[in-house]
Amino acid sequence: MKLTLLGTAGSEMVPVYGCECSVCTQAQNEPSLRREKASALLEHNGHKLLLDANAPDLLKRFPSGSIDTILLTHYHMDHVISLFDLRTGKGPTIPVFSPDDPLGCDDLYKHPGCLDFSCRAKPFEPFHWQDITITPLPLIHSKLCLGYGFEYQGKCFAYLTDTNGLPPETEAWLAQRNVEWMIIDCSFPPIDCEQLRLSKNHNDINQILDISERCRPANMGLTHLSHTLLEWAHAHPDFFNQSLYLLRDNQEIKI
Ligand SMILES: [Zn+2]
Ligand SMILES: [Zn+2]
Ligand SMILES: [Zn+2]
Repeated sequence: MKLTLLGTAGSEMVPVYGCECSVCTQAQNEPSLRREKASALLEHNGHKLLLDANAPDLLKRFPSGSIDTILLTHYHMDHVISLFDLRTGKGPTIPVFSPDDPLGCDDLYKHPGCLDFSCRAKPFEPFHWQDITITPLPLIHSKLCLGYGFEYQGKCFAYLTDTNGLPPETEAWLAQRNVEWMIIDCSFPPIDCEQLRLSKNHNDINQILDISERCRPANMGLTHLSHTLLEWAHAHPDFFNQSLYLLRDNQEIKI
């Protein structure tokens, strides 16, 4: 299994439009520091599975026939926006596995085009893609949202975005396994006021530490990053290490 991070930022991306903070200014000047909206590509046995569909170059990067399956975390616009371009294309039907959200996003269900939305992922009901077992894991977000655990030949990784903390049953599932890689939403620097933290839709650094403590993954890669988190990270380089770090766009993880 090879996972490529296609994007590692939140919906505002990096640089943020019009922002002159140090992170955004650096990213303006250095293309390798730019970040697109969070999504990923899983490749296995020569087949490709997209985790969310929002890459700006998705149609060029993945010509017709090259996408085997799309797996959606949720139907917020910033995670599915490329489906609106993709659905009008020609070529084989692409199965889209997604949470059983009755609304979906805009008119995607009504006009699916070449996309097939009939495959619904249900919490803790595993299904298979190639010879990988995928288990949907409930997350905590403002829209019905699922993370996914991927297991293959005793190896396990998890992709968990968007979320503010983790439900106890999801933490229990993760803690029971040797998770080699946990790729997880972290949008905010530490938020000390608990009430404020709970009002957010995404993890802060404190929650990452709590989740790490309870689930004990071997490696934790942070995604869905914001310019404020990156600014905090620049000021606290010692906080990160080889097993807890900020992911980058186009980074590849072999599992
Ligand atoms: Zn900025
Ligand atoms: Zn979202
Ligand atoms: Zn998001």
